[in-house]
Amino acid sequence: VREEQLRRYARNIALSEVGIKGQEKLLAAKVLVIGAGGLGSPLLSYLAVAGVGTIGIIDYDRVELSNLQRQILFENSDIGRFKTQAAKDRLEEMNPDVNIILYSEKFKPENSNLISEYDIIADGSDNFATRFLVNAACLKYQKPLVSAAVRGFDGQIALFKPYLANQPCYRCLVSGEPDDERGCRDAGIIGALAGIIGSMQALEVIKEIVGIEQSLAGNMLILDGLTLNTRKVRIPKDPLCECWVMPKNIK
Ligand SMILES: [Zn+2]
Repeated sequence: VREEQLRRYARNIALSEVGIKGQEKLLAAKVLVIGAGGLGSPLLSYLAVAGVGTIGIIDYDRVELSNLQRQILFENSDIGRFKTQAAKDRLEEMNPDVNIILYSEKFKPENSNLISEYDIIADGSDNFATRFLVNAACLKYQKPLVSAAVRGFDGQIALFKPYLANQPCYRCLVSGEPDDERGCRDAGIIGALAGIIGSMQALEVIKEIVGIEQSLAGNMLILDGLTLNTRKVRIPKDPLCECWVMPKNIK
């Protein structure tokens, strides 16, 4: 840890749970974020300023006017640009220490092996097809997955480590083929709720990197944005989960 880094990350290092050792782990860590949207904005921002050394971003969308109500990584002048490129410019301004790697493409079976190059995956995508594929690839390459979703006034976040005994995967939670393709893409959402849940994702990722044992692993936290009640529910491992038969669509 260099002198400038000691000052930049002083408040991380001041935590006994983090310290210099934890900061070094953060600087050495590689995190892949799927989707640079409402969840991805706070998630990427907090990972970057915390000093996560390498951050991969995969997103094939361009910034639209209707994104700016919640995707606070972007500004008016970014409209029409690739979200990945606009995010990289902004994040490098926040912390030039961080190495940002861009994938301006759809996450699909053909490129899903890029998950193998990262330590932790954070999914902020907006559709079930992508989430299922991310889950399958995380299972295949044995990577921890911090998954989150927001819809209306509801938010949820979970940490999956299905390669450990008795730990569930995302498919143990959501089976079958939910037909919400319209769902997250066009449903109403207050930006602040995405901000809360995306920030929680960043917190879980950072704890996982540093090696703090208390975590959400195997549980889902559900936030009701109207009452601000939270509930934490254990996700049982489904012995019949289709993920134990490895999906054929993964390279
Ligand atoms: Zn499963």
